[in-house]
Amino acid sequence: MTHVFPRHTRARPPRAARGDGAYIIDETGKRYLDGSGGAAVSCLGHSDPDVTQAIKDQADRIAFAHTGFFTSEPAERLADRLIAHAPQGIERVYFVSGGSEAVEAALKLARQYFLEKGEPSRTRFIARRQSYHGNTLGALGTGGNMWRREPFAPLMVETSHIAPCYEYRGREAGETPEDYGLRVADELEAELRRVGPETVIGFVAEPVVGATLGAVPSVPGYFRRIREICDRHGILLILDEVMCGMGRTGTLFACEQDGVRPDIVTIAKGLGAGYQPIGAMLCSGEIYAAIEGGSGFFQHGHTYIGHPVACAAADVVVEKLTTGGMTARAARMGEVLGEALTARFGQHPHIGDIRGRGMFRGLELVEDRESKTPFDPSRGINKRIKAAAFEAGLICYPMGGTIDGRQGDHVLLAPPFILTDDQVGELVDKLATALDVALA
Ligand code: PMP
Repeated sequence: MTHVFPRHTRARPPRAARGDGAYIIDETGKRYLDGSGGAAVSCLGHSDPDVTQAIKDQADRIAFAHTGFFTSEPAERLADRLIAHAPQGIERVYFVSGGSEAVEAALKLARQYFLEKGEPSRTRFIARRQSYHGNTLGALGTGGNMWRREPFAPLMVETSHIAPCYEYRGREAGETPEDYGLRVADELEAELRRVGPETVIGFVAEPVVGATLGAVPSVPGYFRRIREICDRHGILLILDEVMCGMGRTGTLFACEQDGVRPDIVTIAKGLGAGYQPIGAMLCSGEIYAAIEGGSGFFQHGHTYIGHPVACAAADVVVEKLTTGGMTARAARMGEVLGEALTARFGQHPHIGDIRGRGMFRGLELVEDRESKTPFDPSRGINKRIKAAAFEAGLICYPMGGTIDGRQGDHVLLAPPFILTDDQVGELVDKLATALDVALA
């Protein structure tokens, strides 16, 4: 008997007892290869001595000093390090405790930016269907995961949703990827005209869609067109890199590969690598200047922003990702993983698409490859894969997404960047076993 309020009230998961590199070990001694880093969190594995040492050292010095009174050396160091590697034009970092908080801060900063500029009519956002931006009310409102939104729909911020850039299902026969990208990007233009651009604060999107689609990058040119449209109408481009950022796709920020410059970018998950709960919202110098030259105060804040221990841990993480070569390793091992998945599952009768970048890979399951027909949702394929993989000692992140109004299934893989060649083999073997069991 426990008084913990669990995620699922009828489930009894094992107790995680220890971490060992890419493995989690439960109370009974069973080892699980962490093929999804939880949910794309544990980029450095579960036993990095440098990160834990930094946590101990900082806790010994000072664990907490409220940002209403103090700044701290770890927060300043981490902000400087992030900005040194951030997309062009991004100049300031606002620390929070996780992904949803980072998105909330982004939405509120974007709104306040326009208030400071004397444009109060901007009150709504445009985002994409089949996206996830977090579970707090603002983030849930911009997200396009209808199943999660529905019960809370009356409480949402006003957001309209356009199509995601989802080549596997969206590109028409005879259409080039580039033409497809421009066609779906132009939905933003059409939606802006429909609602009136002067009412819109910004466009929110994940550069590589994580939880709701399963590691779906955009096609070349898509985000450049999105940027042009945002600029033409004076709206902000807010990129949510909570899942795909921090080296996960093989570059520190995923948007580097799309050649696009955001006005605001959110990060979390890999930033603390699971060692500490931390996220951040990074904004352009122009947005910061509007606040600085206006009210001088971002009307937001949480008790734990800029927590010194969390920042000290994240600073070591980002150091490893950048000068320590871990992002380059994610790019290299990501290729190994991608090739291993294609070799093993490229001809699988029920795997319609294998996609992703770096250590962020997705497999989409279908009843029929030719017609791309998804499995009947009543079969609960993604839940069965999760259970069979767990049984086989593999943590992966299968989800159901809505495809053309129907539920589809995919598996998301986001392993630690420290994975070895042998562990890639183990991951693929265990996944194959799980698929056999789940699809039988
Ligand atoms: N944005 C994206 C893209 C995410 O994947 C997530 C978490 N899955 C969030 C925001 C929310 O982050 P958190 O769960 O840390 O609040």
